[in-house]
Parts: sequence; structure tokens; C-alpha cells
Amino acid sequence: MGHFFFKNFEFLILCWITLGLITFLYLIYSKTRAPYGRHVKKKRGILIDNSFGWFIMEMPALIIMPILSLQNLNNSFAVFIACLWLLHYFNRTIVFPLRINTKKKKIPISIVLSAFAFNSINGLFNGYHVQLNVSQTNFFEFNIIVGVLIFFIGMLINITSDNKLISLRRQKMGYKIPQGKLFKLVSCPNYLGEIIEWFGFFIIVPSIASLSFFLWTSFNLIPRALNHHEWYNEKFKNYPKNRKAVIPYTL
Ligand code: NDP
Repeated sequence: MGHFFFKNFEFLILCWITLGLITFLYLIYSKTRAPYGRHVKKKRGILIDNSFGWFIMEMPALIIMPILSLQNLNNSFAVFIACLWLLHYFNRTIVFPLRINTKKKKIPISIVLSAFAFNSINGLFNGYHVQLNVSQTNFFEFNIIVGVLIFFIGMLINITSDNKLISLRRQKMGYKIPQGKLFKLVSCPNYLGEIIEWFGFFIIVPSIASLSFFLWTSFNLIPRALNHHEWYNEKFKNYPKNRKAVIPYTL
């Protein structure tokens, strides 16, 4: 099994990307709204606590990739990559679920299980890539400097936008139209930030594994941003007409 995995590593990732593309096309053409958050439906099978669900579904990402890539602690570049990953997933797995003020809110277990599977597979591909293929390198390579810059710009956009949404939630007055900063341009700057972040990661460690993560993030978040955007327009008659869903001035 292990032998098959390593022998066909790149082919398996290509299949993984193809599956992501099929999922993307399905979500776009069927206009399916992933049933979590505001789109959750009561008749969606077993439901569990929202914050706990987030913690469980993101946990494999926090653990698997760093364990695999930190096999050789003498490789400071591999350690650096694992630290970037840990920084993101410590926030997403521990801090974010503690901060979202969604008491009594539930998430379908089907969503938790599918995200758990996604994070496990993605962690395996990216972790093994770093363990097997990333060698010690000069940190001042052009792609690394540019990639790190893009990664942190994306993270900043993602976290500040999530913060804004969390603070709206805290006011306990239902959903509101978010205002200010990048919300002037798009409905989902948190998703835009996440997509930019993993594009930056791909530039730092260019490989089919990091490309698959960037593509899957886009395949997942672009349809969801279109769903949110449509939902905002349905719910609020005064929703700003010039605001796009996720890519400023474009989409
Ligand atoms: P959302 O933008 O749907 O929601 C974030 C939080 O803010 C939720 O608690 C939500 O409540 C609340 N909220 C959102 N809009 C409003 C509003 N207008 N008024 C009041 N409260 C609001 O983000 P997701 O839950 O989909 O994702 C959370 C994070 O996880 C994001 O940073 C995203 O980038 C990341 N993510 C990454 C993925 C990847 O593939 N890499 C996949 C999915 C998420 P409620 O739950 O009730 O909607």
C-alpha cells in the first residue's frame, strides 16, 4: 500500500485535482449550497455543535502535515514551511472555533466528515512532499520572498475579515451587511484572503501538492462565495450593487 502510494504520488495528486475540478463544476452548475453556517438545513441528518465540529474537521490538518514534514529537523527550510502551515491551522483549528460566537448552532456531521477527509488527504500530500522532496535552500530566493509576502497578505485579509464577521455575530442581531475595508469590494474577503494565502504557499514551495491545495481551496470557496453573495442579495434589498462575490471588480 505504502509502496503504491509513493510510486504513484504525483498521479494520485492529479486524480485528487481532477476530483476537485469535478466537485467545483458540480457546485457551480447545480448551485448547491454547502449546508453549513447560514445555509444549514434542519433536515440534514445528524447535527453536532458548530465550534466542536470546526475543531474536529480541521484537526487532521494541524497534525498530519507538520508531523510528516518535521521528520528532518536539520532541514530549516522544511521547518519554516511547517511553521507557516502551523500558524494558519493553529488559528483555524483552535482560535477560530473558540471565537465564533455560534452557541446553540449546529453543523451536519456529513460536512465535518467530508472536511476531515479533505484535511487528512491534503495534509498527507503536502506533508510527504515536504518530507521527501524539499531540500535545504537559501531563504533569500526570489520566489520564497515573494511567496511569503503573498502568504502573509492573504492571512491578514483572511483574519481581519473573519474578525469583522465574528464581531457582527457578537452583536446577536442576526446577519447584517458587513461594511468597510475589502467588504466594499467583495462579499467574502475572508475567502479571497484564504485563496491568496495558499497561492503564496504554492509560490514558496512550488509543487503539484501545494498546487492541489491552492486549486482545492479555490474550487471550494469560489462556489461558496457565489452562494453567500446570492444569499446577501436575496436577504437585503439594499445590498450594494457594485459589490462582487470574491474577486474585486471581476466575480
Ligand atoms: P463565513 O464567512 O460563512 O462565516 C464566518 C463566521 O461569521 C460564521 O460564524 C458566520 O456565521 C459569521 N457571519 C458570516 N457572515 C455574517 C454576517 N453577514 N453577519 C453576521 N455574522 C456573519 O465563513 P465560513 O464559516 O465558510 O469559513 C470560516 C473560515 O474558514 C474562513 O476564513 C474560510 O476562509 C475558512 N475556510 C477554508 C476552506 C478551505 O478550503 N481552505 C474551506 C472552508 C472555510 P454563520 O456560521 O451563522 O454563517
